[in-house]
Amino acid sequence: MKKWECTVCGYIHEGDSPPDTCPVCGAGPEYFKEVAGQPAAEPAAAADTASAGMTGPGTTAEPVSAIARLVAKLHLHPISVHTPNGVLPLALVLLLIAYLIESAAVFEQAAFFNLVFVLLSMPVVLATGYIQWKNRYKGVMTKIFGTKIVASVIVCTTLLAMIVWRLVDPQVLTSPGRWIYLLLCLTMVGAAGLAGHMGGKLVFKD
Ligand SMILES: [Zn+2]
Repeated sequence: MKKWECTVCGYIHEGDSPPDTCPVCGAGPEYFKEVAGQPAAEPAAAADTASAGMTGPGTTAEPVSAIARLVAKLHLHPISVHTPNGVLPLALVLLLIAYLIESAAVFEQAAFFNLVFVLLSMPVVLATGYIQWKNRYKGVMTKIFGTKIVASVIVCTTLLAMIVWRLVDPQVLTSPGRWIYLLLCLTMVGAAGLAGHMGGKLVFKD
């Protein structure tokens, strides 16, 4: 049986012909190349290759900028995405405490500081994500990358909306729109989680 390697994400397919779409990244059959006479990479080795970034299959011969190499080598995107993915759920929990316990209103302020911290991290998250996609994944627009882009747009929009809202109305906790404010936070955490899930799918290939 022949082996085919996805040149976008490194997934190995076994069969007489490449699959219609890569089950990991969604790339079409034109992105598959036959692996001649080599055993398929072990799953652990494949994951290493994916996280190694620019040394991945099919990308070695292409010119890559020094910044793109640095982003891949130091894993700057997975490192930086842990700021929104780690801090935003905390902001939601703090907000819920402030909503549920009247004497804990100060937690709402803490949630706001968390949001500002995430906002400051977003330029690095977005830039490294874009560079990684353009170089490691060849800028291929498939469902998984489209979902990640839409999710990050939702995170940025809801994040900015919450911060501007809070600056305009510091008493949001007692304002009539407080449930919409909370809904924005829920949406943001959901979108960040979705983007993270898709990233995990790409790296671990399952
Ligand atoms: Zn793939």
